[in-house]
Amino acid sequence: MLQVSLLIKADILVHNCTILPMKGEEIIQKGFIAITDGKISHIGKATKALSVQAKRTLNGQGKVALPGLVNCHTHVAMTLFRGIAEDRPFDEWWEKTIWPLEQKLERSHIYNGALLGCLEMIKSGTTCFSDMYFHEDAIAEAVQKSGLRAVLASGIIEAGNRDQGRRMLDEAVTIAQRFQGSANGRINIRLGPHTVYTCSPELLKEVRKAASKLKIGLHIHLAESMSMKEAVKANFGLTETELLEEIDFLDSDVLVAHCIHLSKEDRQTLKKHDVKVAYNPVANMKLASGVPKIWDLSKQGVTVGIGTDGAACNNSFDMFESMKFAALLQKTLFRDPAVLPAEKVLRMATIEGAKALGIESTVGSLEVDKKADLILVDFEKPHLTPTHDFYANLVYSAHGSDVDTVIVDGEILMENRKVKSLDEPQVMKRAQENAYGLIKE
Ligand SMILES: [Zn+2]
Repeated sequence: MLQVSLLIKADILVHNCTILPMKGEEIIQKGFIAITDGKISHIGKATKALSVQAKRTLNGQGKVALPGLVNCHTHVAMTLFRGIAEDRPFDEWWEKTIWPLEQKLERSHIYNGALLGCLEMIKSGTTCFSDMYFHEDAIAEAVQKSGLRAVLASGIIEAGNRDQGRRMLDEAVTIAQRFQGSANGRINIRLGPHTVYTCSPELLKEVRKAASKLKIGLHIHLAESMSMKEAVKANFGLTETELLEEIDFLDSDVLVAHCIHLSKEDRQTLKKHDVKVAYNPVANMKLASGVPKIWDLSKQGVTVGIGTDGAACNNSFDMFESMKFAALLQKTLFRDPAVLPAEKVLRMATIEGAKALGIESTVGSLEVDKKADLILVDFEKPHLTPTHDFYANLVYSAHGSDVDTVIVDGEILMENRKVKSLDEPQVMKRAQENAYGLIKE
C-alpha cells in the first residue's frame, strides 16, 4: 500500500492534547490544532500520515484545549470598586457608594480599571467579553493593548435628564463609528441603554433606530430588580419586556442581562423576537436580586450566555466559578439535579455565549477557518483527577487558575501562566493607586 504523508505549515502548533471543540459531541484524544494567520487551519487527531511544520510548538501533554470562555455581561472597569460597600442592601450599595464613585471616574481610571479586568480575564481563561460602561473608547484601548476580543456597549443613562440622554447617545454613536471592527476585528461595538427604568421610551426608540442604522447590536439590563420592575409597571402599566416590545426595540441583535423578574409571557416574547440572554448567577445571588428561570428560557430555545457582571457585585471575573454557580443555582431553583448539566453550561460559556453576542460564525468553537481563540487547561492537578467526565471536571472542579495558555486571534496572550501582552505588576499597581485615590478624594 502506498503511504502518502502530508506536510502542513503553520504559525503555531498545539499538539498532544485532548480537545473539546464544542461543536457537537466530539472529544478528540491526542489531538492537534494548527493555527495560521490568526485562524485554525487544521484540527484533529494526530496521525503518522500528517506532519506539521510550525514556527511555534506548544506541547499540550496533560492539558485540555477548548474555545476561550465568553463573558457575556460585565462592566470591566468596575474592578476599581472590588470589595467596596460589601454586604449592604442593593439601594444603599448603589445610591450611597457605587453611583457617587462613578461620578468621579475619569478616563484614565476607566482605562486602568479595564486593563486590570483584562489581565484577570486572561489569567482565568476568558478570551472575549461583553461590556457596558462609560468611556468605552478608553476600554477599547485597553482591549486593544491586552489582545482580548470584546463587544463594547457605550452606556446611556437618561435618569430624567433628556439632554444627558441625548448627549450620551451621540457619544455612543461617535465611539461606534470610530471603533467598530477595530483591532483586526477583535472589537465590536454596541449601544448600551442602561435599563427601561433609567431611559425613557422616547430615548430607547432613538437608540434602537441609531443601532439599526449603524448595523450594530444593543445591550441592556432587563428585569434585574423588583423595585425597578414595580416602578416601570406603575409608570407605564407594562412589564419592562412588554414596554420594549411595544416600542419595537426587541430583535435578534438585542442582548438582555439578568431576566430575573419575567412573566411566562415575557419569556415567550423574548423567544419570539430571538432576543439573547446573559445569565449572571453570582451577581444575582450576591445582590440577592432573585433567581432567573434560565432552564425554562433555555428549554424554550432562547440563546443564553453566562456573565460575571461587574467586579463590585461578583467580585471576580473567573468564568469557571460562574459556570459552577450557573448550574447549581438552576438545580436548586428547580429542585432537580438533572437541570442544566455540565456540558450545556460549558456550551453557554463558549459557543452559545458567542451566539448571544452575534459572533458565533468566527469564535465560540474550535473549527477550521474560525479565529484561533482557545485556552489550554492544565488537568494534571489533584482536584482534576481522575477524569471520568471532561465537562464535569471543567464546570464543577476547575478554577480560572488552572488555565495554562490563552490564545486570541492566533496570538499567545499567556503561556505557562505568564501573561505576554500586559505588564502584570504595573497593571495591578496603577489600578490599585487609582482605586485608593478615588476613595480618598
Ligand atoms: Zn450589569
